[in-house]
This record gives sequence, structure tokens and C-alpha cells, in this order.
Amino acid sequence: MVIVMKPNATEKQISDVSNLLSSLDLGAHISKGEERVVIGVIGDKKKLHDKPIELMDGVEKVVPIVESYKLASRTFNPVSTVIDVDGVLIGDKNIVIMAGPCAVESREQLFESAEAVKKSGAKFLRGGAYKPRTSPYSFQGLEEEGLKMLYEAKRYTGLKIVTEVMDIHSIDVVSKYADVLQIGARNMQNFSLLREIGRSDMPVLLKRGIAATIEEWLNAAEYILSEGNENVVLCERGIRTFETYTRNTLDLSAVPVIKKLSHLPIIVDPSHGTGKSFLVNSMAKAAIAAGADGLIIEVHPDPQNALSDGAQSLTPMEFDMLTKEILSIANAIGRDFE
Ligand code: PEP
Ligand code: MN
Repeated sequence: MVIVMKPNATEKQISDVSNLLSSLDLGAHISKGEERVVIGVIGDKKKLHDKPIELMDGVEKVVPIVESYKLASRTFNPVSTVIDVDGVLIGDKNIVIMAGPCAVESREQLFESAEAVKKSGAKFLRGGAYKPRTSPYSFQGLEEEGLKMLYEAKRYTGLKIVTEVMDIHSIDVVSKYADVLQIGARNMQNFSLLREIGRSDMPVLLKRGIAATIEEWLNAAEYILSEGNENVVLCERGIRTFETYTRNTLDLSAVPVIKKLSHLPIIVDPSHGTGKSFLVNSMAKAAIAAGADGLIIEVHPDPQNALSDGAQSLTPMEFDMLTKEILSIANAIGRDFE
């Protein structure tokens, strides 16, 4: 449940409510909006059954949270969350672009990609070192060698690193080199992985599962939040439907739905969302127009010879053209892209 304070509630009235909650061993999550303060109650609300909170001074009303997820819901926290990744803000006015190859293949390939995406305005370098491939015989990634290359590219360009962590055993090693831990679509409901990452304080990019509903996706985020890690960014990357022309069906309506249901930032992956490079430009622009906080895009210096996902990868030149158009869209909707 959430306790909505009156617009003119005093600091004392707010602390009286949160003191009552802590005396009952309940947590209080205080969101300060422009007009009023909202206090989210964490824990077993049955403890409040004989406490008429509505009658306390400064309290306007008590609202139950009907969704199965709580901490991820906008009712619980009406103020949009901005995640600070070492100075780069996700969920703020500025659009954030993450770009780079699907997989780290070599030092040369990674550095060429990193320099190009940096020049065009990306703030993050993406690249998988552990790859969740459909076939066990496909290229599986360079593992720690790849992570070291990502880290070197970070030191060279100043870009932040986002890369996938596939299992509990590799959380520590990936955290050593990365700025954001990516949880891939195939792992969205790997609950033990979600819980373990929830116990770290690393920012997380949580991709939507291949066949996950929005409610299942927000519950996956809830697993991370409920362990204490509040740094979750959602990523719409397409879902499986009866359509086979595209690799997945990019659900852009998920963007305004997430904005309505949750306070968490959301970015869009038009590369996996479509599987075809010629569709990436229009879907990326549409995503920003729909209110996404950023994009994650596959860029490869030589897509035809990429070891994975070449068909959906942009060349550096295509990416550069796209970022120029993103700037116009961002400005048209009152956002920046710097
Ligand atoms: C990726 O980002 O390269 C990837 C494997 O994405 P997803 O988990 O969305 O398929
Ligand atoms: Mn990929």
C-alpha cells in the first residue's frame, strides 16, 4: 500500500508516519513529488490493521497496490526513476544510446566499433562476451578475454560498458569490467539470477523475455528490486508472435504502457526487435517518439562478416545518420540528445 500525504503536510507529519512504520518493522519508501509526498509501505501490511493511518495528521489517503509487483509500480513510486551510471543518467531528459557489436570478436573489431559509436554520440559500448546462442555450435563469445577488451575500450574512449551476464557464476567477473549488467531475454525469468543480481548494487538492463507479458516482465524487475537493487532499466526487444517476416515483433506500445505502470526507465532494442538492419532506423526513431529513454543498437564495422547478428547490425555510417535523426526527434518531443 501507499500512504498519500496532503500537499501541505509538514516534515514532522511525514516523519511521524515513517516512525510508526519502522516501529512495526515495516519499511518506508518516501517519494517526494512536485506537489506531495507519497510513502510506499514495504512489508506485511496486516501489521497495520488496527492502526488508522488515514486519521493521522497530514495523511490524505491510503491506497492499496493492486498489481502483483509493488516496488516496480508507479503507484508505489510516482516519481520517475533516473539511474545514474557513473555520471550518465538514464531516465532523465537526455536520450541515452548504447551501441556496439552483438559480440566482442576481436580487439580490432571492438575498438573500431567503439570509436565509431562514440563519435556519433553513444554513451555506452555494448558487446557480448558471453553469448546466449540458440545453437550450442555457434560462436559462444570470448568470455573473460572479451570482458578485458571491453574494459580496455572503455579506458580508451570513456564509454560505459553494458554486457550480458548469463549465470550466477559469472556475476562477479562481469561486474569487475562492466558498468551495467545485461540480463538477456532468455534469462528474464531466471529467478535465481535475478535475485542474486538484486543483491548487488550494479545497474541492470533487464530485457523483456521472448514471450513475456508486461506483467511478467515487471515481476522480473520486482525480483531484483525486492533484494535491494533499485538500479533497473527495462529494455523492450521484441516478442515472439505469429509474424515471421521480422525476427521478433517489436512492441512499441510497451513503452507508454511501462511509463504508465512503472517508474523505471525503459529503452528499446530495435536490432533484436526486428532482426533486419533496414528496419532499425525507423523503429529507433519511433521508439524515441513513443517516449523511450534510450536505445541499444547493434553496430558492426563489417556486418556481412559478423560472427553473430550481422543481418540486424548497422554499419558505423548508418548509425551516424540515425543519431542525427534521433536528435531531431528528441528535440521535437522536448528531450535532448547530447
Ligand atoms: C543481445 O543483446 O545480443 C541479445 C542476445 O539480446 P536478447 O537477450 O534480447 O536476445
Ligand atoms: Mn545480438
